[in-house]
Amino acid sequence: MGCQFRRVAALRALLCGPRFQCLLVRPNSGGSPWPQERTLVAVKPDGVQRRLVGTVIQRFERRGFKLVGMKMLQAPESILAEHYRDLRRKPFYPALISYMSSGPVVAMVWEGHNVVHISRAMIGHTDSTEAAPGTIRGDFSVHISRNVIHASDSVDGAQREIELWFQSNELLSWADGGHHSSCYPA
Ligand code: UDP
Ligand code: MG
Repeated sequence: MGCQFRRVAALRALLCGPRFQCLLVRPNSGGSPWPQERTLVAVKPDGVQRRLVGTVIQRFERRGFKLVGMKMLQAPESILAEHYRDLRRKPFYPALISYMSSGPVVAMVWEGHNVVHISRAMIGHTDSTEAAPGTIRGDFSVHISRNVIHASDSVDGAQREIELWFQSNELLSWADGGHHSSCYPA
């Protein structure tokens, strides 16, 4: 009996300990003690034409992020001009706008801990030649002008870009059945 009690107590301590708190606490709450950062990710026209949308989504889901908004659109030039306003004096700007207008893009908002920083690491270096294998650009692109994917480069930039590409009612909050709590330490 005492032994049984000790075993139950040990199991309880294990499950309630810092590493496994998620197993007992916040079941299906959908809540998180961490501020949930959001970022804009867009599969560019070359990525859509090459059927890479599913691969991109899979990588972000597997990493532990949550999709809270997604749409496919032919990006209007007004959005592209605002999106790339800091690059408007660059020599490649006209070609960039033409490339981004050459077909539909799939714009997404992903949510999660440090998602801005981590998603930049996941997409890789702007110049595909420098992008490390294992990154999206490093695995699927060979040239800077056809680099498959966009991701916001700062938290402030992400907020600006999300507001540019999405109406607030196009972004959903959904409970994720505790998945988040199994991706982050308690
Ligand atoms: N770009 C280009 N030539 C360059 C630099 C950038 O065609 O020499 C394009 C490329 O598609 C890149 C986008 O412009 O993704 C935006 O450039 P930025 O420096 O913001 O890179 P990113 O944030 O996309 O990595
Ligand atoms: Mg950028």
